[in-house]
Amino acid sequence: MISKTPLIIKKSRVGGDYTDIPKNDVPTNEINDIIDNNLLRDSRIKLPEISEPEVVRHYIKLSTKNHHVDKDFYPLGSCTMKYNPKINDKVASDPMFSDVHPNQHINSIQGHLELQFRLEKMLNDITGMDNTTLQPSAGSQGEFVGLLIMQKYHQKNPKKKYIIIPESAHGTNPASVILAGFEVIQVGTNQDGCVDIDDLKSKVNEEVAGMMLTQPNTLGIFEKDIKLISSIIHDVDGLLYMDGANLNAMLGLCKPADMGFDIVHMNVHKTFSTPHGGGGPGAGPIGVVKKLSKYLPYPVITKREDDFNFDFNHKKTSIGKIHSFFGNTGVLVRAYCYIKSLGSKGLVNVSLNAIINANYIKQRLKESYIIPFEHGTMHEFVISAKKQKETGLKALDIAKIVLDYGFHAPTIYFPINIPEAIMIEPTETESKKTLDTFINLMLDIDTKIDLDLDDLLDSPKNTPVRRLNETKANRELNLNWKNEL
Ligand SMILES: *Cc1c(COP(=O)(O)O)cnc(C)c1O
Repeated sequence: MISKTPLIIKKSRVGGDYTDIPKNDVPTNEINDIIDNNLLRDSRIKLPEISEPEVVRHYIKLSTKNHHVDKDFYPLGSCTMKYNPKINDKVASDPMFSDVHPNQHINSIQGHLELQFRLEKMLNDITGMDNTTLQPSAGSQGEFVGLLIMQKYHQKNPKKKYIIIPESAHGTNPASVILAGFEVIQVGTNQDGCVDIDDLKSKVNEEVAGMMLTQPNTLGIFEKDIKLISSIIHDVDGLLYMDGANLNAMLGLCKPADMGFDIVHMNVHKTFSTPHGGGGPGAGPIGVVKKLSKYLPYPVITKREDDFNFDFNHKKTSIGKIHSFFGNTGVLVRAYCYIKSLGSKGLVNVSLNAIINANYIKQRLKESYIIPFEHGTMHEFVISAKKQKETGLKALDIAKIVLDYGFHAPTIYFPINIPEAIMIEPTETESKKTLDTFINLMLDIDTKIDLDLDDLLDSPKNTPVRRLNETKANRELNLNWKNEL
């Protein structure tokens, strides 16, 4: 039985056992002499009165109620929930980085600028692109910036109004297209899980401004016709955008620019190790080919002799500034450390291990689950629980059972073109032992359907909250702070 944790305000005791601070021994002013009376609150602010150890225990308790990658396996497809080395956190929280004020004089932040300058070059190397901006705060903002760049590129050609997107695309792709003022054309998937080339050819015309494609795609499959796709799009002067959320499968193995992509975003928090989930800060740098560099957000960091500086030279052609100051710098420092500490060989091994881990699980799950696509699996894959659903257990039920064993659930019902989809991404940071435990659990679940379906449907039993009524939770959202967590 899991006990509820009352809100910290409910644990408050007036005059509680908190630490007394020494009496003030310097002259004081009355607050009313400094701030207008009508701006002052007329009662004391309600803060919890509670001792330091109780504060610590309260938050530690809460932190263990949520799943996180430091707690256990987190095979959430499309999210790359990998272990994040603690050394990166340590470096990013060094006051040299964390205490810098964004308005400091440029001479006093040369180290910071050098780090960003170098990170841009490293990301150029990884993607094969000519220039990179670190400003976007997330992959989705990178998409938006990429589409604004497409708009600038086509500004003299008002006919260009459509962006092609595969039906398996992540939801942020069509959302970014609409936000940027374009319209979506959807292209189908063939039996190999890749873009249907005939369908693509039938939809491309002079009004197409570009195409967004995830490589490897959201089924975890490498789009092997990418050169052909690129020429079809470029033939109508369209631009090819790579959603780089799956870059973890390609580090040092192949480069987006070599495949014909013109723009790519990188989800730094996925591929380059920043703890994420729960909406924490991220970064979504985008890289572009030379012909698009002048449209990138300004300013860019330039190096003259040994000095780093801001360059506003392309302000007139740029799409504008899209982030205050330097972007989410803490995340960028972590990415720099991660790339530097692995080196180019280490990065290749990241991808090779991510790929072999995914393929190992996929081969073993074949025994019991439908595998919609046999070939081309990279760092993640999709199985279908269609067979299990017929005997009473949906993909959602399987996800709930997985929680009872201390794992995070895989992604379910995505991509939407696979019925009862369960999408699994183990990442490179898991041992064979962990993978085997997960595989055995998934196989056991299937065996148990015939033996004890009711018990399976009763999950989750070991989580802080049992199965939620998801429809009710959406329709009658209750965020009252008086509720216990
Ligand atoms: C995560 C993801 C995104 C969005 O990236 P954010 O950094 O979360 O904004 C876009 N596309 C795919 C395929 C993703 O997995």
